[in-house]
Amino acid sequence: MSSASNHEFRNFNQPLGGDAVPRFAGIATMMRLPHQATTDGLDACFVGVPFDLGTSNRSGARFGPRQVRSESVLLRPYNMATRAAPFDSLQVADIGDVATNAYNIFASIDRIEKAYDGIIANGCRPVTIGGDHTIAWPILRALHRRYGPIGVVHVDAHADVNDTMGGEKIAHGTPFRRAVEEGLLDCNRVVQIGLRGTGYHADDFDWCRQQGFRVVQAEECWYRSLVPLMKEVTERVGHGPVYLSFDIDGLDPSFAPGTGTPEVGGLTVQQGLEIIRGLRGLNLVGADLVEISPPYDPHGTTALVGANLAFEMLCVLPGVQYRD
Ligand code: MN
Ligand code: MN
Repeated sequence: MSSASNHEFRNFNQPLGGDAVPRFAGIATMMRLPHQATTDGLDACFVGVPFDLGTSNRSGARFGPRQVRSESVLLRPYNMATRAAPFDSLQVADIGDVATNAYNIFASIDRIEKAYDGIIANGCRPVTIGGDHTIAWPILRALHRRYGPIGVVHVDAHADVNDTMGGEKIAHGTPFRRAVEEGLLDCNRVVQIGLRGTGYHADDFDWCRQQGFRVVQAEECWYRSLVPLMKEVTERVGHGPVYLSFDIDGLDPSFAPGTGTPEVGGLTVQQGLEIIRGLRGLNLVGADLVEISPPYDPHGTTALVGANLAFEMLCVLPGVQYRD
């Protein structure tokens, strides 16, 4: 079946339009898409992981999924810049939230991992709304089980490769250390973008480089378009499975103040868009947007940025049609 006839015979979910029901009305699913409980029949899904037991400073990321859904009601189905029309060719729904355990970090990690085993079993590609960054570890465990070693594009102010935090192995600053130790990553296909700020040692980011990661510190991004960088990134990650993990604190706090561990001198919204749009054509097996903390986001700006970034992630998944 050609993609054109495929389009005729499949009835794809569409975001509810603003003329049908006002944008401020109704139950706020992501992009006003239908909600369904499982990924049966889905090519991609939005899923929330309300969890912040791993945070080291300001908490509140447990409220991220709900707030991003609320700000996502303004999103329309077509990408005016890239011409991506994800709902022309992908079946997408909001599958709700993973039921984390608010009293137990270990039980939560276990529940997240098991949930993602199910979410990706039929090839569905999840766009996750966190949650703090701890959640990337159990998600990568599930992805590795299905796809093998994963390449990662990691946008963040922080490397998140601490051995421990407060003596604990599981925290929002340790997920990529755990992932490397467990062999989940294809380390030569890992790129970290936006790292910056104060540290404990001058060589804090060198552990990453020693693993084979390409580390792009924020200063390397200042005052320039990231389109050339993304050409290098796509060549590096190649055709293998790749995961995008986007910590909202990779952006500058002037754009995204509602987060737990803000660092000055970060990426612009435009650079964030260039990074995501630059992933078009890759075998993106999933993506997350983490560390949005609504209690520190009084105007909803951070959640609005996050909602748009999540839509852009959907727009670069394999199989998306472009109305060129
Ligand atoms: Mn992070
Ligand atoms: Mn961070």
